[in-house]
Amino acid sequence: MASLLKKITAPNGGVFTGKGTNTYLIGKDEITVVDPGPNIPEHIENIINHGNGRIKQILVTHTHTDHSPAALPLSKELEIPMYGRLVDGKSDWEDETFKPHKILNHGDIIESQEYSIEVIHTPGHASNHLCFYLKKQKCLLTGDHIMDGSTVVIAPPDGNMRDYLNSLQLLKQYDIDCFAPGHGNFMDNPNKTIDSITRHRLAREAKVLRNIKNHGSQKIDDLLKHVYSDVNEVLFPIAKMSLLAHLEKLIEDRVVVFENEIYSLS
Ligand SMILES: [Zn+2]
Repeated sequence: MASLLKKITAPNGGVFTGKGTNTYLIGKDEITVVDPGPNIPEHIENIINHGNGRIKQILVTHTHTDHSPAALPLSKELEIPMYGRLVDGKSDWEDETFKPHKILNHGDIIESQEYSIEVIHTPGHASNHLCFYLKKQKCLLTGDHIMDGSTVVIAPPDGNMRDYLNSLQLLKQYDIDCFAPGHGNFMDNPNKTIDSITRHRLAREAKVLRNIKNHGSQKIDDLLKHVYSDVNEVLFPIAKMSLLAHLEKLIEDRVVVFENEIYSLS
């Protein structure tokens, strides 16, 4: 595996990105780059050096600014195509420079002599999020659908909690031994990871509901304090996005109603 899949981490570490965005180079003679990352010249140079004239194409898991902005300069420099999807609406971290030469669809297969990549559409973190499945190696490049070491942010309107949970379950249909995430290290035990993320999300959703039941109708900032009391306040702006995603799901489920800035049980 290590010989087929090379991981290079961009120097953009931070609250959202951990140690930085992982760029993957798949293959030896015909290389596919996945998520070239932010437009940082030294990182792009690093990718080109590792590719050593053998990079054929660029894939992008989604178009947040830590994943795709290097695609355009890399594509121009090496005269190679870039592939991915566009978001349905608007999102806060959108990279507007990414214009795919071809839109990838769920089920598309990208073949080379050395490997075969299946495209899996996994909306949730972003409406255009894709995972890339290396069939023979049973390894899934997860982008920001699943990260190592932290919970993925689901930020409406482009992020959607229901889609996210469905996209997690979808992965169980594939025979996967290893996750290669967009942030952090390689992960094994894929199904256990999927179950634990799902449990964590549903527990938070149940906590939201319980809180409205016990403390009555509330504004989002009061719910935030109650429901995320276990989280450091520095992270509240991020937690608020995921709380909003939970509330939107509960409204869709017709369990909660939203009126005059107040969330109540329906
Ligand atoms: Zn990311």
